[in-house]
Amino acid sequence: MKRPGLVSLVGAGPGDPGLLTVKAARAIAACDALVYDRLASEAIVALASPRCEKMYVGKKPGEHVLTQDEITALIVSLGLEGKRVVRLKGGDPFVFARGGEEAQALHAAGVPFEIIPGITSAIAAPAYAGIPITHRDHNTSFTIATGHEDPAKGYSSLDYAKLANPSQTLVFLMAMGNLPGIVEKLLENGMPADMPTAIVREGTRPQQETLVAALGTIVAQVERTEFAAPAVVVIGNVVRERESIRWFDKHPLFGKRVLITRPAGQGDEFAAKLWELGAEPIIAPTIAVGSPDDPSAAKDAVHRVREYRWIVFTSVTGVRRFFDTLAAAGDDARAFGDARIAAIGPNTAQALSAHGVNADLVPARFVSEDFADGLLRESNKGDRILLYRAQEARDVLPRSLAECGRDVDIVAAYKTTFVDDADLAQQAAKSDIWTFASASAVHGFVRNVPNAAALSDGKYIACIGPVAGETARGAGLRADIVAQDYTVDGLIQALREAPPLNCSRKRPENTQPDDRSPCRTIA
Ligand code: SAH
Repeated sequence: MKRPGLVSLVGAGPGDPGLLTVKAARAIAACDALVYDRLASEAIVALASPRCEKMYVGKKPGEHVLTQDEITALIVSLGLEGKRVVRLKGGDPFVFARGGEEAQALHAAGVPFEIIPGITSAIAAPAYAGIPITHRDHNTSFTIATGHEDPAKGYSSLDYAKLANPSQTLVFLMAMGNLPGIVEKLLENGMPADMPTAIVREGTRPQQETLVAALGTIVAQVERTEFAAPAVVVIGNVVRERESIRWFDKHPLFGKRVLITRPAGQGDEFAAKLWELGAEPIIAPTIAVGSPDDPSAAKDAVHRVREYRWIVFTSVTGVRRFFDTLAAAGDDARAFGDARIAAIGPNTAQALSAHGVNADLVPARFVSEDFADGLLRESNKGDRILLYRAQEARDVLPRSLAECGRDVDIVAAYKTTFVDDADLAQQAAKSDIWTFASASAVHGFVRNVPNAAALSDGKYIACIGPVAGETARGAGLRADIVAQDYTVDGLIQALREAPPLNCSRKRPENTQPDDRSPCRTIA
């Protein structure tokens, strides 16, 4: 018999991928099989390695689902096969998630297991709505209950007489289907009708929405706004604190869908920063990076760099390819010899320093024209300069250097190719903001979205620098934002400072303040 593996029952947190624990991230990155369901976010599933077998077992309307027994049998058998298995569950695996039963089955089958708790939506969704689950002015306890059982069935294991206690916070999960019955029982048992109540749907996600009303009117408000699951219902005086503690849905980019057109793998940091601001990144690469037409010339140049006075790197991709080529030959940064090194942009400089190389020249502004001035000041007539860059780069830099007597060699280190993506137009249509980090990204976009100019109505178009901006204008698009420092951070900063983006997605209209309500109703 094979040695049993290890099954980790892991909490994925409530939605925001940043709320995953460090231990959970490690387990996901190391597992052979990932068994996950509907509430786990894509960014978290993407942490698994390419060799990991990913098994979706969750519920989506119309999709075939495994029953709980089948899921339990699946993780037991994967564990018995000797695999490292992560069973990923929304929120915490032991909060209304049947993790207890799965652990018991693993125990009975003799499969080693561990539990990695997660941040439960019961606490995180209110927190992201600015509602503290406890506050010393209001309560001394809180109760988390399931609303899944139907109070109308005549028998309830929930003790409504105890729940209807104004000095505790009540949190119901899975309560939207039975909300009228739950509210009725609470009122019958003496909970005041003016008790503030909040419903937070899609908590911690860019789609988060919060409805606040008095307990006595909440059901009518839910019907009026068609407020739907998944949602957490919070009942108690702590709901009043939202007025001053509300924060997440106040971010300027909150709820905005931001299209990232960078090559695959290069948009991840941008995406993570957008998540932090409550925006929803939509990753849709319009270009890809591949080998140049003459790979042997690029390889050759890498091994001859010490013959040059200056080596110029124009992108992070160039730096990566350079060091990959060196490493493949068993070489390292000593290959530079006495050559001096220039980097266009702080990101390129940072990529070099990750290899222990500090650039000698990083221009203050990151366009070819300014860069040429800096390099001319630092070099002499006759100096040999190697430009290690994209095959399709512009001529401005080498021309100005050559005109001033520098001996310039250009090496095409990589080639940018356009991605064909039939879904791109649809992704662009549902995004509020389009971002372009290079001129090629604009070209790649327009090829896939022939009606881009018409589609751009009401969208915000953000470009990383003037060259991408000009290219966008040339393609009939506006460039509403052109970042000042030509970096992703600069782009985000510019977006944050943009005048209120008037392209916000349609939300349920605000409900009216209710006279009897102690709280305003906020959508
Ligand atoms: N184990 C999960 C709960 C699973 S039960 C946890 O600890 O969070 C599923 C219920 O959780 C949903 O019906 C809803 O009530 C709640 N829920 C899960 N994610 C949510 C989210 N992002 N926002 C609001 N409610 C959520």
